[in-house]
Amino acid sequence: MPVRTLILCSFLLSLGPQGLAHAGDYKVGLAKMVVTPEGALWLSGYGARTRPAEGKANDLYAKAVVFEMAREAHESADGARLVLVTLDVGSVSPYMTERVAAGAQKRFGVPRGSLVLNCSHTHCAPEVAAERRVFHDLSDEEEAKLAQYIEGLTEKLVDLIGAAITDLRPARLSVSGAEADFAFNRRHPSGIDRNGVTDREVPVLRIADPDGTLRGVLFGYACHNTTLDFQQYCGDYAGFAQQYVEEAHPGAIALFVMGCGGDQNPQPRHGPKGLEHAKRHGRTLADAVEKALAGAQRAVHGPLRVAYDVATLELEPLPPLDQLRSANRARDKTADRKVRYLQGVIDAGKDIPLTQPCPLHAASFGDDLLVIFISGETVVDYALRCKRELAGPAGPAVWVAGYCDDVFAYLPSRRVLLEGGYEGRDSIVHQLMATPFLPNVEERVMAGVTKLVAQANGDAK
Ligand SMILES: [Zn+2]
Repeated sequence: MPVRTLILCSFLLSLGPQGLAHAGDYKVGLAKMVVTPEGALWLSGYGARTRPAEGKANDLYAKAVVFEMAREAHESADGARLVLVTLDVGSVSPYMTERVAAGAQKRFGVPRGSLVLNCSHTHCAPEVAAERRVFHDLSDEEEAKLAQYIEGLTEKLVDLIGAAITDLRPARLSVSGAEADFAFNRRHPSGIDRNGVTDREVPVLRIADPDGTLRGVLFGYACHNTTLDFQQYCGDYAGFAQQYVEEAHPGAIALFVMGCGGDQNPQPRHGPKGLEHAKRHGRTLADAVEKALAGAQRAVHGPLRVAYDVATLELEPLPPLDQLRSANRARDKTADRKVRYLQGVIDAGKDIPLTQPCPLHAASFGDDLLVIFISGETVVDYALRCKRELAGPAGPAVWVAGYCDDVFAYLPSRRVLLEGGYEGRDSIVHQLMATPFLPNVEERVMAGVTKLVAQANGDAK
């Protein structure tokens, strides 16, 4: 049996008998807002872009969901709260995340560890990545426009969190799963490795009023939002999937949670039919969500606990900068920019960091649902390993999100790192991170995850 089938089964097998969640366990609040810029800003992702956006195919959204225990239920949960913000943008940086966290803490008392920002990694949104200034052909004017957008966005996100908190009211939760077939492993020179590992599971969390009326749907998928390579604002397949789910359920808010799709691409993609492909993938994903919503549900109840930490990942030693330049002849322009950037850090009298902070969260909903949030462009091995090690027939449904809080670079597994290639090593040339990770990267991340899961399960403090 292929690995991905096993993993999918593990999620579905962990579904309990059909039934409705206790109405009294949780309060949930939801909110959404359009974050499409009014003007033409530089778009994210592809370094080959030469001009800003030209119109929009659909709107970009920020959405927030807040979970907390109802006061009368589970006193032991210490009033824990989980605030998840999902974003139709390409990246999230510490600058953005920490500003939003500080605002949410100050205005609403949300602890840092309770807040997660997850980006869909659409490449058709304003370029908000921290490395843009070094690697993109941005004029001062273009950069100023982006900086202004980021400032405005961080303020809006704090307001959005406030709106979701205001919306808190009793809710029933249940999880289910389905599958969508357009994600392919891309770690092959052709861009498609048909035998490569994937995680095509579509985990779905249903949020309903006590009377059963649907209020919100969280759904995930592990795949780059890179169907499109055009010059318009667009949420790519995830944007269309959210739109289709909301159209099918008027009044409900659909939130896309990016999974561990660092080494996964949608197929087909790009080219003159790119928009058609993106809509079709969106439809495929929305159909999977509907199938899950209509299928067996595992009621979610029990104490909500959240845990947060920042793992420290180690990087390779820094080679002499000349060596770094000559090692990347094929990408001279990018390598030169990287070397100039690193030289600038040295010239400013600062140390070049040879560690990378990696924010991690775990959220446990009783014995029924465990959600892991990992930063970086997380490759699929992390989702497969977490599900393998943390689920099991009697365990909770395990949901693993990547691209959270800080998209610092690709986050390879040990296997991907040792294989090398783009996600393993080569992409580091256009990241601010100085050098690739050491081979202990996966163990560092998983040690962090394991510790947080124990905390979230109440096994340790
Ligand atoms: Zn990417």
